[in-house]
Amino acid sequence: MHALAEILYPLCRSITGEGLRESLRVISDKIPIDIKSVPSGTRVFDWQVPQEWKVREAWIRDSIGNDVVNFRDHNLHLVSYSRPVQKRMSLAELLPHLHANPKMPDAIPYRTGYYNDDWGFCLSQNALDQLGDGDYDVCVDTDLFHGELNYGELLIPGICDEEVLISCHCCHPSMANDNLSGMVLATELATRLMEQPLRYSYRFLFVPGTIGSIAWLASNESLIPRIACGLVLACVGDPGALTYKRTKRKNSLIDRAVESVFRNSCPDANIRDFMPYGYDERQYGSPGINLAIGCLSRSAYGTFPEYHTSADDLSFITAEALQDTLEKLERILFIVDQNTRHLNLKPMAEPMLGKYGLYEITGGAKSDVFDELALLWVLGFSDGSNDLLAISEISGIDFKVILEATQKLTEVGLLEELKE
Ligand code: ZN
Repeated sequence: MHALAEILYPLCRSITGEGLRESLRVISDKIPIDIKSVPSGTRVFDWQVPQEWKVREAWIRDSIGNDVVNFRDHNLHLVSYSRPVQKRMSLAELLPHLHANPKMPDAIPYRTGYYNDDWGFCLSQNALDQLGDGDYDVCVDTDLFHGELNYGELLIPGICDEEVLISCHCCHPSMANDNLSGMVLATELATRLMEQPLRYSYRFLFVPGTIGSIAWLASNESLIPRIACGLVLACVGDPGALTYKRTKRKNSLIDRAVESVFRNSCPDANIRDFMPYGYDERQYGSPGINLAIGCLSRSAYGTFPEYHTSADDLSFITAEALQDTLEKLERILFIVDQNTRHLNLKPMAEPMLGKYGLYEITGGAKSDVFDELALLWVLGFSDGSNDLLAISEISGIDFKVILEATQKLTEVGLLEELKE
């Protein structure tokens, strides 16, 4: 995953353009995503797909021709969607177009102006402080034209048509945790899910933030009722503890699955309630859409000083943290995928387990005693109202152990799976 992030890091992504398309092409070499296109100007709910943005070059030079800032040195130097300009100007004229972050004086901040008819440059506070009076030549050689917005989509079919949605944004230029970490984690997760038998179908979206998810929702309204739940993946590669932002419904299957994994294996993890700010979960959770989509992160957006600066680079994310998030995510989705409800077919007192060959496995070693308990919990609570995750929550027994007990009881005819 880290190696894939290294390939994607230098590409200049935005909400449209060649950097975004090239990033999707790199991902399509790993997993069979379709690269979709929505023409500029297309109405998507209350929005309109913007014009496509292209950069040829962008720089500021001082009066003796030295580069003060050059887009070639770092993608973050140019405010995304800067309009073209070619002009000599004084420092006073230039300053309103320059952005720095005094709290991170060595880092270049990230700024966008998608819907502003303006241009701007970002530079470190230290570089900004060194600018002297005098004239500066400014060149922003960009184009805004009728083109397209692109996103990547992959459906991994399972037994049923109901879907789990995994969404990540892919519009930030050269930032590793806020952007690339979600893209590479989603890519690796898809690779693994394609190799497994699945109950749910899994839909992966690699979309430019906000406008991309809105464009997808507007073009796929008929699919929305199929989506059972899902996750937005963002900021999943830093070494901080895991953070989960609940869905608006708070207790949907994905919320319960995350909380179960956190309770059992992530004592430091944080859980926050839904709020209509953040990543694309806010679009998926809006009143007319109302999907149960949570957001999985490590350090949450805005909580780390590197956030939205050039310090969110490849050294800020680690292979170990990405791997840890992947393992926890696989456990979460295992629960989502395998969570079923059953009916005890011998509910009049306890069945005589020995008759079904289940007594032997209960004798002897301590781990088997635990299995016996799991058998009793599953039998005792399979009245049709509790799913396996609920039985795991009530008993405090790991979901996998409950699932194994359920499979044994089903094999001998003591349980029947209830279909929704
Ligand atoms: Zn961001």
